[in-house]
Amino acid sequence: MKEELTEIRKKLSKVLKKERFEHTIGVMYTAASLAMRYGADMEQALTAGLLHDCGKFCSAKDQLKLCEKKGIELTESERAMPALIHAKLGAYLARHEYGIKDEAVLNAITYHTTGRPDMTMLEKIVYIADYIEPNRKEIPGLAEVRRLAFADIDEAVCRSAGATTRYLESGGKAVDPMTIRTYNFYKKEG
Ligand code: FE
Ligand code: FE
Repeated sequence: MKEELTEIRKKLSKVLKKERFEHTIGVMYTAASLAMRYGADMEQALTAGLLHDCGKFCSAKDQLKLCEKKGIELTESERAMPALIHAKLGAYLARHEYGIKDEAVLNAITYHTTGRPDMTMLEKIVYIADYIEPNRKEIPGLAEVRRLAFADIDEAVCRSAGATTRYLESGGKAVDPMTIRTYNFYKKEG
């Protein structure tokens, strides 16, 4: 692995909780496997996978404070759903603290939680890797999304956005409009 990635990995192992770090490594290698499958750039996949949750180094409350301090603009739904904030904050930190200049990697971090319509292959890879990585708790339908991820990634994105929406709705939680847009886009595609 490139020196730069090893350095980032070392840094993350210090700032992330153990479980979060294990998840991060799972996403990194799952993203790399998907890059192999779909002919995407391996290094971009590894980098985005490794950094996708770097914004989760502190509580959601502190993430919000940090966004305010750094002048990171948040949407209405991000303010209402603090679990979303780490994605945008993560992209900011990836750029300013971890030295990532590749906009494609930064976008994959920004959209890893909600997805977006018409994602790049790298964005889809990180979105799905986050959902299927081996440390994820088994939930109904996960085995099928894992299989689909390597067979038809758009269908896997659709299933995962649909499952996320249903999960949040059944828990009485708000769903980010972007997640719904992602679902509708990939539903039409499929
Ligand atoms: Fe995340
Ligand atoms: Fe994650």
